[in-house]
Amino acid sequence: MHIEFSGAAREVTGSCHILRVGNRTVLLDCGMFQGKRSESRAKNAKLPLPVDEIDAIVLSHAHIDHAGRLPYLVAQGYKGTIWATSATRDLCAIMLADSAHIQEKDADYLARHRDEHIEPLYRVEDATRTQEQMVGMPYKKWFEVTDGVRAMFTEAGHILGSASVTLELREGDTFKRLVFSGDIGRSGLPIIRDPEPPAHGADMVICESTYGNRDHAPVSGARDQLAAVVRETAARGGRVLIPSFAVGRTQELIYDLHELVRDGKIPSIPIYIDSPLATAATSVFALHPEVFDQSEALVRHTSDLFDFPLVQFTRDVSESKALNTRRGPMIVIAASGMAESGRILHHLRYGASDARNTILIVGFQAEHTLGRRIVERRSVLKIFGEEVPLAAQVEVLNGYSAHGDRTELARWLDAVRANGVPDGRGQPHVYLVHGEPEAQTAFAERLRGSGYRVDVPEPGDRVTIA
Ligand SMILES: [Zn+2]
Ligand SMILES: [Zn+2]
Repeated sequence: MHIEFSGAAREVTGSCHILRVGNRTVLLDCGMFQGKRSESRAKNAKLPLPVDEIDAIVLSHAHIDHAGRLPYLVAQGYKGTIWATSATRDLCAIMLADSAHIQEKDADYLARHRDEHIEPLYRVEDATRTQEQMVGMPYKKWFEVTDGVRAMFTEAGHILGSASVTLELREGDTFKRLVFSGDIGRSGLPIIRDPEPPAHGADMVICESTYGNRDHAPVSGARDQLAAVVRETAARGGRVLIPSFAVGRTQELIYDLHELVRDGKIPSIPIYIDSPLATAATSVFALHPEVFDQSEALVRHTSDLFDFPLVQFTRDVSESKALNTRRGPMIVIAASGMAESGRILHHLRYGASDARNTILIVGFQAEHTLGRRIVERRSVLKIFGEEVPLAAQVEVLNGYSAHGDRTELARWLDAVRANGVPDGRGQPHVYLVHGEPEAQTAFAERLRGSGYRVDVPEPGDRVTIA
């Protein structure tokens, strides 16, 4: 039995690992490569293996860098089962449709403006068909993936429905346990539970390493900082404009604002959620209270976490535009998370030049994005081809990261290692994936210092599970 590292090897995106046990083949994730457009388009179009060789797929969570190529496999003829948690399956319904929609739009744009004709990787109907092949499983229950392979999901604490996967592999007399971390979240994040390291031991661990070289600010600090920003901006009569990822971050913000209002820590000003995808994602969250963190008071005492008198979900573009003519302090949360597209652009064009306003940055901002230029406090921003002076305050909150930092990742691995290996000898072999080389090298060093056997595979590397 062996594993081949097909994607997210020496990089963060494109998560995909090929597991072979006997004559069976199972894919762990099949995510989209993201980054420079032309480069990632070529990588995404290359199938990890012929679809008729795949017996089953196990999906760790709904993020596009993990699930984004599933509709492509289905479009190419994959007919097998895609196993996921129930919440992941439901989030995929909106996220894969949205991804298909973006690709159709991109292809259309290139055809009209650059006379470049490309086929979208897949279409909305492929995303719909993918949904029919997904089977939702509860956490902590073993299920048969295919002959010789059974699996169990445990909470990864990263986004709603996210899971780490323990796989039991049988080939003849050989029995091995493989743990795939998925993306590991932070302890103390609102709504979702804390990560729970798999408890059955492992011969091999495939572990993410996104923040293998840094520590984050504490989550509780982020909440206090959010409260301070809202109070100060409201006192100036300004707006708080928040570019936010539609799935996950937006719901955490709604939740924290809900709690801050209840505790009287921020004034009662309207909160507008101006993103159709965020609105749809929020309804999926509301469908899955079974995976909420019952140790949080708001979860225990409130029947509807995301619906309270101050919060309003805008329906169409005219309602979105009408916000610009409204007076008085307010909070506007809109996609996209790096302010590259989406309705946040209209709010920034209108609001960035007003010194009473605050632009609140709550997520990672990649190079060459408008979000990054805001973080750098450029004096002039370019929005829809127009020059807009940046006079608004800019505040950055780091504590909301959905990924554990190096201390949290190491703690998770320590817990998995403490459970031993199935035959009681030695310790699990750790393979680091899902990280930039710099973060991976630093994290591998740190782990070796704690006595781990660690490797950082290159794309295409194949190793025997021993
Ligand atoms: Zn993720
Ligand atoms: Zn990821």
